[in-house]
Amino acid sequence: MALRIDGKAISMQIKDECKEKVASYKEKGIEIKLAVIQVGNDPASSVYVGNKKKACAYVGIESLSYELPEETTQDELLGLIKTLNEREDVNGILVQLPLPEQIDEDLVIKAIDPRKDVDGFHPQSVGALSIGQPGYVSCTPAGIIELLERSGVEIEGKECVVIGRSNIVGKPMALLLLRKNGTVTICHSRTKNLKEVTKRADILVAAIGKPKFITKEYVKEGAVVIDVGIHRNENNKLCGDVDYDDVEPVASAITPVPGGVGPMTIAMLMHNCVESVALLKK
Ligand code: NAD
Repeated sequence: MALRIDGKAISMQIKDECKEKVASYKEKGIEIKLAVIQVGNDPASSVYVGNKKKACAYVGIESLSYELPEETTQDELLGLIKTLNEREDVNGILVQLPLPEQIDEDLVIKAIDPRKDVDGFHPQSVGALSIGQPGYVSCTPAGIIELLERSGVEIEGKECVVIGRSNIVGKPMALLLLRKNGTVTICHSRTKNLKEVTKRADILVAAIGKPKFITKEYVKEGAVVIDVGIHRNENNKLCGDVDYDDVEPVASAITPVPGGVGPMTIAMLMHNCVESVALLKK
Protein backbone atom coordinates (compact mmCIF):
# COMPACT_ATOMS: atom_id res chain seq x y z
CA MET A 1 0.00 0.00 0.00
CA ALA A 2 1.29 3.44 -0.89
CA LEU A 3 2.19 6.01 1.73
CA ARG A 4 -0.56 8.62 1.75
CA ILE A 5 1.32 11.92 1.94
CA ASP A 6 -0.62 14.02 4.44
CA GLY A 7 -0.57 17.62 3.24
CA LYS A 8 -2.96 18.71 5.94
CA ALA A 9 -0.63 17.57 8.74
CA ILE A 10 2.55 18.84 7.04
CA SER A 11 0.99 22.23 6.26
CA MET A 12 -0.02 22.51 9.93
CA GLN A 13 3.59 21.80 10.99
CA ILE A 14 4.80 24.58 8.69
CA LYS A 15 2.18 27.03 9.93
CA ASP A 16 3.17 26.24 13.53
CA GLU A 17 6.84 26.83 12.68
CA CYS A 18 5.86 30.16 11.11
CA LYS A 19 3.80 31.05 14.19
CA GLU A 20 6.86 30.54 16.41
CA LYS A 21 9.05 32.68 14.14
CA VAL A 22 6.41 35.43 14.00
CA ALA A 23 6.21 35.40 17.81
CA SER A 24 9.98 35.72 18.16
CA TYR A 25 9.99 38.62 15.65
CA LYS A 26 7.23 40.27 17.69
CA GLU A 27 9.41 40.04 20.80
CA LYS A 28 12.00 42.06 18.88
CA GLY A 29 9.34 44.60 17.91
CA ILE A 30 9.05 43.36 14.30
CA GLU A 31 5.48 42.98 12.97
CA ILE A 32 4.65 41.29 9.66
CA LYS A 33 1.89 42.72 7.50
CA LEU A 34 0.44 41.20 4.31
CA ALA A 35 -1.73 43.24 1.93
CA VAL A 36 -4.30 41.02 0.21
CA ILE A 37 -6.02 42.49 -2.84
CA GLN A 38 -9.06 40.98 -4.53
CA VAL A 39 -10.69 42.59 -7.55
CA GLY A 40 -14.31 41.55 -8.13
CA ASN A 41 -16.08 38.77 -6.24
CA ASP A 42 -15.33 35.53 -8.04
CA PRO A 43 -16.58 32.93 -5.50
CA ALA A 44 -13.48 30.68 -5.79
CA SER A 45 -11.18 33.69 -5.29
CA SER A 46 -13.21 34.76 -2.25
CA VAL A 47 -12.69 31.30 -0.70
CA TYR A 48 -8.92 31.42 -1.38
CA VAL A 49 -8.62 34.97 -0.02
CA GLY A 50 -10.66 34.05 3.07
CA ASN A 51 -8.39 31.05 3.75
CA LYS A 52 -5.27 33.18 3.33
CA LYS A 53 -6.56 35.73 5.85
CA LYS A 54 -7.46 32.93 8.28
CA ALA A 55 -3.94 31.50 8.00
CA CYS A 56 -2.48 34.98 8.65
CA ALA A 57 -4.58 35.29 11.80
CA TYR A 58 -3.42 31.84 12.95
CA VAL A 59 0.30 32.56 12.59
CA GLY A 60 0.07 36.13 13.89
CA ILE A 61 0.54 38.03 10.63
CA GLU A 62 -1.66 41.08 10.18
CA SER A 63 -3.61 41.03 6.91
CA LEU A 64 -4.74 44.25 5.27
CA SER A 65 -7.72 43.53 3.10
CA TYR A 66 -8.50 45.39 -0.14
CA GLU A 67 -11.75 44.25 -1.77
CA LEU A 68 -12.03 46.26 -4.99
CA PRO A 69 -15.07 46.29 -7.29
CA GLU A 70 -15.11 44.29 -10.55
CA GLU A 71 -14.93 47.50 -12.62
CA THR A 72 -11.67 48.69 -11.00
CA THR A 73 -9.35 50.09 -13.69
CA GLN A 74 -5.80 48.96 -14.26
CA ASP A 75 -4.51 52.40 -13.23
CA GLU A 76 -6.45 52.28 -9.97
CA LEU A 77 -4.97 48.88 -9.12
CA LEU A 78 -1.46 49.97 -10.13
CA GLY A 79 -1.91 53.08 -7.96
CA LEU A 80 -2.78 50.95 -4.93
CA ILE A 81 0.22 48.68 -5.54
CA LYS A 82 2.51 51.71 -5.78
CA THR A 83 1.24 52.98 -2.41
CA LEU A 84 1.72 49.55 -0.82
CA ASN A 85 5.21 49.23 -2.35
CA GLU A 86 6.16 52.50 -0.66
CA ARG A 87 4.64 51.70 2.74
CA GLU A 88 7.41 50.61 5.10
CA ASP A 89 4.99 48.75 7.36
CA VAL A 90 3.82 46.42 4.54
CA ASN A 91 5.94 43.27 4.06
CA GLY A 92 4.06 41.44 1.36
CA ILE A 93 1.58 42.23 -1.42
CA LEU A 94 -0.69 39.54 -2.80
CA VAL A 95 -3.01 40.15 -5.74
CA GLN A 96 -5.50 37.30 -6.07
CA LEU A 97 -5.63 35.99 -9.65
CA PRO A 98 -7.42 35.84 -12.03
CA LEU A 99 -8.09 39.56 -12.57
CA PRO A 100 -10.98 41.00 -14.60
CA GLU A 101 -10.23 41.26 -18.32
CA GLN A 102 -9.64 45.04 -18.37
CA ILE A 103 -6.52 44.49 -16.25
CA ASP A 104 -3.24 43.11 -17.62
CA GLU A 105 -2.07 40.48 -15.12
CA ASP A 106 1.54 40.54 -16.27
CA LEU A 107 1.71 44.29 -15.77
CA VAL A 108 0.26 43.98 -12.27
CA ILE A 109 2.69 41.21 -11.28
CA LYS A 110 5.61 43.30 -12.56
CA ALA A 111 4.39 46.36 -10.62
CA ILE A 112 4.85 44.63 -7.25
CA ASP A 113 8.16 45.42 -5.55
CA PRO A 114 10.08 42.10 -5.90
CA ARG A 115 11.03 42.42 -2.22
CA LYS A 116 7.30 42.18 -1.39
CA ASP A 117 6.39 39.55 -4.02
CA VAL A 118 5.31 36.84 -1.55
CA ASP A 119 3.57 34.87 -4.33
CA GLY A 120 6.91 34.54 -6.15
CA PHE A 121 5.40 35.44 -9.54
CA HIS A 122 7.53 38.52 -10.36
CA PRO A 123 10.03 37.92 -13.22
CA GLN A 124 12.85 38.86 -10.82
CA SER A 125 11.74 36.14 -8.36
CA VAL A 126 11.53 33.60 -11.18
CA GLY A 127 14.95 34.68 -12.48
CA ALA A 128 16.48 34.39 -9.01
CA LEU A 129 15.06 30.88 -8.68
CA SER A 130 16.49 29.83 -12.04
CA ILE A 131 20.03 30.93 -11.13
CA GLY A 132 19.86 29.78 -7.50
CA GLN A 133 19.80 33.21 -5.85
CA PRO A 134 17.70 34.19 -2.82
CA GLY A 135 14.14 35.24 -3.57
CA TYR A 136 10.54 34.23 -3.16
CA VAL A 137 9.51 30.87 -4.61
CA SER A 138 6.03 30.22 -5.99
CA CYS A 139 4.04 28.69 -3.12
CA THR A 140 2.55 25.53 -4.69
CA PRO A 141 5.83 24.07 -6.03
CA ALA A 142 7.70 25.15 -2.88
CA GLY A 143 5.04 23.28 -0.89
CA ILE A 144 5.57 20.14 -2.99
CA ILE A 145 9.29 20.12 -2.15
CA GLU A 146 8.34 20.35 1.55
CA LEU A 147 5.86 17.46 1.13
CA LEU A 148 8.55 15.29 -0.45
CA GLU A 149 11.31 16.13 2.01
CA ARG A 150 9.16 15.88 5.13
CA SER A 151 7.86 12.50 3.93
CA GLY A 152 11.41 11.20 3.57
CA VAL A 153 11.43 11.11 -0.25
CA GLU A 154 14.93 11.68 -1.60
CA ILE A 155 15.08 13.86 -4.72
CA GLU A 156 18.80 13.84 -5.50
CA GLY A 157 19.65 11.72 -8.52
CA LYS A 158 16.00 10.70 -9.06
CA GLU A 159 14.17 10.78 -12.38
CA CYS A 160 11.61 13.55 -11.87
CA VAL A 161 8.89 14.12 -14.46
CA VAL A 162 6.69 17.21 -14.26
CA ILE A 163 3.58 17.26 -16.45
CA GLY A 164 2.61 20.88 -17.11
CA ARG A 165 4.71 23.95 -17.90
CA SER A 166 2.68 26.80 -16.41
CA ASN A 167 4.54 29.75 -14.90
CA ILE A 168 3.07 29.22 -11.45
CA VAL A 169 3.38 25.44 -11.12
CA GLY A 170 5.14 23.41 -13.84
CA LYS A 171 8.17 25.59 -14.61
CA PRO A 172 9.09 26.57 -11.01
CA MET A 173 8.46 22.95 -9.98
CA ALA A 174 11.01 21.74 -12.51
CA LEU A 175 13.54 24.38 -11.38
CA LEU A 176 13.12 23.42 -7.72
CA LEU A 177 13.55 19.70 -8.43
CA LEU A 178 16.67 20.58 -10.42
CA ARG A 179 17.94 22.66 -7.50
CA LYS A 180 17.52 19.54 -5.36
CA ASN A 181 19.66 17.60 -7.87
CA GLY A 182 16.85 15.64 -9.50
CA THR A 183 17.11 14.66 -13.18
CA VAL A 184 14.18 16.62 -14.52
CA THR A 185 11.94 16.23 -17.57
CA ILE A 186 9.05 18.59 -18.32
CA CYS A 187 6.10 17.27 -20.32
CA HIS A 188 3.32 19.38 -21.81
CA SER A 189 0.42 19.27 -24.24
CA ARG A 190 2.76 18.74 -27.23
CA THR A 191 4.80 15.94 -25.65
CA LYS A 192 4.85 12.81 -27.78
CA ASN A 193 4.47 9.40 -26.14
CA LEU A 194 3.62 10.89 -22.76
CA LYS A 195 3.19 7.50 -21.10
CA GLU A 196 6.69 6.41 -22.12
CA VAL A 197 8.17 9.51 -20.49
CA THR A 198 6.07 9.42 -17.31
CA LYS A 199 6.82 5.70 -16.85
CA ARG A 200 10.48 6.64 -16.32
CA ALA A 201 9.63 8.81 -13.32
CA ASP A 202 10.69 7.99 -9.77
CA ILE A 203 8.85 11.19 -8.82
CA LEU A 204 5.88 12.19 -10.99
CA VAL A 205 4.23 15.59 -10.55
CA ALA A 206 0.90 16.06 -12.36
CA ALA A 207 -0.09 19.70 -12.96
CA ILE A 208 -2.18 19.27 -16.06
CA GLY A 209 -5.57 20.68 -15.13
CA LYS A 210 -7.49 17.59 -16.38
CA PRO A 211 -9.48 15.48 -13.89
CA LYS A 212 -8.21 11.93 -13.26
CA PHE A 213 -5.98 12.11 -16.36
CA ILE A 214 -3.16 10.05 -14.83
CA THR A 215 -4.05 6.38 -14.54
CA LYS A 216 -1.76 3.48 -13.61
CA GLU A 217 -0.63 3.12 -17.25
CA TYR A 218 1.36 6.35 -16.77
CA VAL A 219 3.09 5.31 -13.56
CA LYS A 220 6.14 3.15 -12.86
CA GLU A 221 5.80 0.60 -10.05
CA GLY A 222 7.03 2.24 -6.83
CA ALA A 223 6.91 5.83 -8.09
CA VAL A 224 6.05 8.79 -5.85
CA VAL A 225 3.03 10.57 -7.33
CA ILE A 226 2.20 14.21 -6.57
CA ASP A 227 -1.19 15.49 -7.69
CA VAL A 228 -1.48 19.26 -8.11
CA GLY A 229 -4.87 19.29 -9.84
CA ILE A 230 -8.05 20.51 -8.18
CA HIS A 231 -11.41 19.78 -9.82
CA ARG A 232 -14.99 19.13 -8.86
CA ASN A 233 -16.37 15.89 -10.26
CA GLU A 234 -19.94 15.22 -11.41
CA ASN A 235 -20.99 14.70 -7.75
CA ASN A 236 -19.43 18.04 -6.73
CA LYS A 237 -16.65 16.16 -4.90
CA LEU A 238 -13.02 17.31 -5.18
CA CYS A 239 -10.64 15.26 -7.31
CA GLY A 240 -7.21 15.77 -8.84
CA ASP A 241 -5.33 15.21 -12.10
CA VAL A 242 -4.54 11.69 -10.87
CA ASP A 243 -7.02 8.83 -10.68
CA TYR A 244 -6.15 8.08 -7.05
CA ASP A 245 -7.86 4.69 -6.71
CA ASP A 246 -6.29 3.41 -9.92
CA VAL A 247 -2.75 4.72 -9.24
CA GLU A 248 -2.46 4.14 -5.46
CA PRO A 249 -1.78 0.37 -5.74
CA VAL A 250 1.27 0.90 -8.00
CA ALA A 251 2.73 3.98 -6.28
CA SER A 252 5.05 3.92 -3.25
CA ALA A 253 3.67 7.27 -2.04
CA ILE A 254 0.88 9.52 -3.30
CA THR A 255 -0.86 12.78 -2.38
CA PRO A 256 -4.66 12.73 -2.02
CA VAL A 257 -7.04 15.43 -3.27
CA PRO A 258 -8.20 17.06 -1.06
CA GLY A 259 -5.61 17.07 1.71
CA GLY A 260 -2.42 16.79 -0.35
CA VAL A 261 -0.85 19.69 -2.25
CA GLY A 262 -3.78 22.08 -1.67
CA PRO A 263 -3.15 23.04 1.97
CA MET A 264 0.58 23.47 1.28
CA THR A 265 0.10 26.54 -0.92
CA ILE A 266 -1.19 28.70 1.93
CA ALA A 267 1.36 27.30 4.39
CA MET A 268 4.15 28.34 2.01
CA LEU A 269 2.58 31.77 1.61
CA MET A 270 2.93 32.14 5.38
CA HIS A 271 6.53 30.91 5.08
CA ASN A 272 7.21 33.54 2.39
CA CYS A 273 5.71 36.27 4.60
CA VAL A 274 8.10 35.26 7.38
CA GLU A 275 11.00 35.26 4.87
CA SER A 276 10.05 38.81 3.87
CA VAL A 277 11.61 40.16 7.06
CA ALA A 278 15.05 39.04 5.85
CA LEU A 279 14.45 39.79 2.15
CA LEU A 280 13.23 43.34 2.82
CA LYS A 281 16.54 44.15 4.45
CA LYS A 282 18.46 43.33 1.23
P1 NAD B 1 -2.38 25.41 -16.68
O1 NAD B 1 -3.67 25.16 -17.37
O2 NAD B 1 -1.78 26.78 -16.70
O3 NAD B 1 -1.28 24.41 -17.25
C1 NAD B 1 -1.57 23.08 -17.56
C2 NAD B 1 -0.37 22.47 -18.23
O4 NAD B 1 -0.68 21.12 -18.56
C3 NAD B 1 0.06 23.17 -19.50
O5 NAD B 1 1.43 23.51 -19.42
C4 NAD B 1 -0.17 22.13 -20.61
O6 NAD B 1 0.88 22.11 -21.58
C5 NAD B 1 -0.20 20.82 -19.83
N1 NAD B 1 -1.11 19.88 -20.47
C6 NAD B 1 -2.40 20.06 -20.80
N2 NAD B 1 -2.90 18.97 -21.41
C7 NAD B 1 -1.89 18.07 -21.46
C8 NAD B 1 -1.77 16.76 -21.98
N3 NAD B 1 -2.82 16.14 -22.58
N4 NAD B 1 -0.59 16.13 -21.87
C9 NAD B 1 0.46 16.73 -21.27
N5 NAD B 1 0.40 17.97 -20.76
C10 NAD B 1 -0.76 18.63 -20.86
O7 NAD B 1 -2.59 24.89 -15.19
P2 NAD B 1 -1.83 25.23 -13.81
O8 NAD B 1 -2.16 26.61 -13.38
O9 NAD B 1 -0.40 24.81 -13.87
O10 NAD B 1 -2.63 24.24 -12.85
C11 NAD B 1 -2.65 22.85 -13.07
C12 NAD B 1 -3.64 22.22 -12.12
O11 NAD B 1 -3.24 22.47 -10.79
C13 NAD B 1 -5.07 22.77 -12.21
O12 NAD B 1 -5.98 21.73 -11.94
C14 NAD B 1 -5.13 23.80 -11.10
O13 NAD B 1 -6.42 23.99 -10.60
C15 NAD B 1 -4.25 23.15 -10.07
N6 NAD B 1 -3.57 24.07 -9.16
C16 NAD B 1 -3.56 23.72 -7.86
C17 NAD B 1 -2.91 24.53 -6.92
C18 NAD B 1 -2.90 24.10 -5.50
O14 NAD B 1 -2.73 24.89 -4.61
N7 NAD B 1 -3.05 22.81 -5.23
C19 NAD B 1 -2.27 25.69 -7.32
C20 NAD B 1 -2.26 26.01 -8.67
C21 NAD B 1 -2.91 25.19 -9.58
